[in-house]
This record gives sequence, C-alpha cells and structure tokens, in this order.
Amino acid sequence: MTMTDQHVPQNLPKRLQHFVAGEFVDSLDGATFDVLDVDRAVASARKAFDEGPWPRMLPRERARVLNRIADIVESRDERLAEWESFDSGLPITQALGQARRAAENFRFFADLIVAQADDTYKVPGKQVNYVNRKPKGVAGLITPWNTPFMLESWKLAPALASGCTVVLKPAEFTPLSASLWPEIFREAGVPDGVFNLVNGIGEEAGDALVKHEDVQLISFTGESATGQLIFANAAPTLKALSMELGGKSPAVVFADADLDAAIDSTVFGVFSLNGERCTAGSRILVERPIYDEFVRRYVERAKNIKVGDPHDPATEVGALVHPEHYAKVTGYIEIGKTEAKLAAGGGRPEGLESGNYVQPTVFVDVPPTARIFQEEIFGPVVAITPFDSDEEALELANDVKYGLAAYVWTSDLERAHNFGQRIDAGMVWLNSHNVRDLRTPFGGVKASGLGHEGGYRSLDFYSDQQAMHISL
Ligand code: NAD
Repeated sequence: MTMTDQHVPQNLPKRLQHFVAGEFVDSLDGATFDVLDVDRAVASARKAFDEGPWPRMLPRERARVLNRIADIVESRDERLAEWESFDSGLPITQALGQARRAAENFRFFADLIVAQADDTYKVPGKQVNYVNRKPKGVAGLITPWNTPFMLESWKLAPALASGCTVVLKPAEFTPLSASLWPEIFREAGVPDGVFNLVNGIGEEAGDALVKHEDVQLISFTGESATGQLIFANAAPTLKALSMELGGKSPAVVFADADLDAAIDSTVFGVFSLNGERCTAGSRILVERPIYDEFVRRYVERAKNIKVGDPHDPATEVGALVHPEHYAKVTGYIEIGKTEAKLAAGGGRPEGLESGNYVQPTVFVDVPPTARIFQEEIFGPVVAITPFDSDEEALELANDVKYGLAAYVWTSDLERAHNFGQRIDAGMVWLNSHNVRDLRTPFGGVKASGLGHEGGYRSLDFYSDQQAMHISL
C-alpha cells in the first residue's frame, strides 16, 4: 500500500479555521499569532460568560441543549468515523461508535446537572448554611490525538453542563474531527461565544491558554511530561487543574484465571486502537504455572492480527498517527530487542512498504528494569513477564512511575479484591476490561494524573462551591 492508495473521505473541510464568538475565523497574522488567536477566543468566552445567557440558564434548559447536541453527534457517526480514521489511522470498525460514546457523555451530564443537589447544614437554633454552586468561568480544554473527538466530549459535556464557557485546543496531529463541533453546537442552539475552538501547536496555542489570566481552569489530557510543564506554567495564575496523563498499566493473570477470557482481553487491551490507548494493558504479568501456555497462545493470536489500511473493515490494527510517533514506537521496539526476547512482530508488516504500519509486537521474559517495561510506548507493543507469588506480582505491578489502570484475572474473588485494592492505579478492572460507568471516578495516581473526573467529580471541577451562612 502506498500513500496514494489512501481512502480520502468526502466533505473534508478545505482548510481548518478557528471558531470564535460564533464565527469561523482565520489565524491572525504576526509572529505570535497563536497567542493572539487564543486571546481573541478567551475574550469571546469571557464575554459570553459575563454577559451571555449560558451560565444563568436553568440546569434543565442547558440539559435540553446538551441532549440536542447528543442527538446531532450520534447522527454524524459515519462521517466522524471516516474523518477520525483518515486523520489518526484508527481502523474504521473501531472509529465507528466513537460518536455514540461522545453522545452518551452529553446525555449523561445533561441528566446529572438536572439531578444535581447541593448541601445544606443546620446548626439548630443558630444558623443555616448552604452551598451556592456557580460555574467556574472560562474553561481551557487541551486534548490529545487518540480518539480525539470522544475525549473532547468528555471535557466539553461537563464544562458546558456546569455553565462554563470554553476554549478547546485540540491536538495538532488530529484537528479534523474537532472541526465538526461548531456546526453541531450551532444546530443545537448553543449561544455564540460559549464554545470557542483554537487550532495550533501545544507549545504556542496550548501554552497561551495555560498562561492566560482570564482562564479559570485547565482540563488536560496528554503525556505526563506535558502535564508537568502545564502544572508549572499554570502556577502564576493559580488555575484549577485536572490532568489525565500517561500509563503503563499491568494486566495480572493468575494461574486460576479463565485463560480464554484473559487472553481475549489482554490481546484487545494492547492491540485495539492501534495500542494508542491511555489505559492499554501494556505489561502482562503471568503466574509461572501457566506462563508457557499463555505465551504460546498469546503469540499465536498476535501473529494473526490483521494490520492494514485503516479504511478496510477487515483491519484490526491500522496506521500509527504520525511519522514522529511511528519513529518513537519503532525506536522502542529496537530497544526491546536488546532487553528481552522478541516473540512476535518486531518491525514493519510484509507488503506495507510505506505508511506508519507496525506489526503487533510481543516481548517475553521482560525484566522489570527494561525500558520497555517502564516507559509508555503508546503503540501495539506488549511486555510479558512471569511471576511466582502474589507479593511478587504486586511488586512488579507497582514498580513503574505510572498508575492509571490495572487488570486482574483470577477466579478467586477474595484474592481479586485484596490484590486489586493494593495496586497503585486509579482504575482497576477485575476479570473484565474497558467497561466504564460514567458515574465512577476516572483518573490516575502517581505520574498518571492529578484529580479525578467522572460523575459529580466532573461537575465539582467545573464549578465553585460558595458557602452561604445565615444566622437564625
Ligand atoms: P501531548 O502531551 O503531546 O499533547 C496533548 C495536548 O497538549 C495536545 O493538544 C498538545 O498540543 C498540547 N500541548 C503540548 N505541549 C503543550 C504545552 N507546553 N502547553 C499546553 N499544551 C500543550 O500528548 P499526545 O501525544 O497528544 O497524547 C498521548 C498521551 O496522552 C499519552 O501519554 C496518553 O497516555 C495520554 N492520554 C491519557 C489519557 C487519560 O485519560 N489518562 C487519555 C488519552 C491519552
């Protein structure tokens, strides 16, 4: 396959523009144009916040708009999937359904904002105190390139539900799907200025948003190193920060696990979404008595995964997002060859001479000191390591700087709970994967994040809670 064979979706925008104060606009000219574009977008969001109806609408009225957004988003599933697959290299079958997930985020926060209750405290005979919840202000939303539209919705929905106005800065690698938002919001009746979009690179547009004194909060999803930089850059203006960062999540498979289910899940866990998934189970720890069988069956499965044109419905692993990312992932594969035993993959698939294609790659007997065990690769590459006891498994599971997700496979439920609770991870799946209840906390510990979103935690992040005290 060559680049000229690439399927090009219809109706692609001819050029990407910013969206500010209800209008599509081009970049301003000048050396610091990204900063000026961000200024313009923040001013629009600020005006809509200070003077517009959105923050003052009844929750029920905002919920109606959010439900309309959800319906429109869902009706664009096919177009979104085509664009997302074209822009990011995601297999088309996995890009389909992203719109449904995005729509669910809007429906969920529409329900939640209507059901929102706030606390009241009574000191008998003396005082009544209550919480006056208010939207925080202008929300800066900075998002990554993996499943970009869906991840944007995860921030847009609670920010808008809470009554904030927003400036979205999508990832520069995948700006295409974000260009669908302006029309969707317009059609749903979101007032001008409530939603603003600035395209630009992280170090300029993202940075300007982070440092802007009129932005009250930043919700960021991306790499841990970027998160650290944003944390420092936001300090002078004391912003609220929510950080969903990188991961190197373990899948721990005990000898008493349902092996068929564990293999299915751990194959899916690292090779779906091209391995470009924050919660990927990229380290598989397997108890010694089943290690050889697990490895044999896993390797066989990995070798049969179909890599190819993202637009082909038979494709299971598509093309990585960008040549830069391709170089990073293949660089790790070369490092892995010096650190552990290569059991499957390890390079470019036969017949795919150009494009960012990588074979599903399995390293076995990987020591915990290996870089491929410790560092986030964010591609279709997995490290498998044996263990002999629960204690050793726990040590291995926790022996990385990250703590986003973990997966535990065992038929002993007592062990599953006890072991799962001791893992340093924000989210643990027992004998399951990838099922998310939107009410639960989402986020990581250690280098994987700061703060939690999900359910009322998201609404709390996007609002201020003012304490009102009344003497009786
Ligand atoms: P990235 O950190 O390179 O970029 C993310 C966003 O930050 C982009 O929009 C980028 O333009 C912007 N950015 C970059 N530098 C910036 C700066 N100095 N100031 C402000 N903004 C800046 O991440 P990526 O490569 O786009 O995404 C992949 C990473 O995201 C992986 O580490 C993955 O694990 C993580 N991720 C985490 C979650 C989660 O929920 N924890 C979800 C998806 C992805």
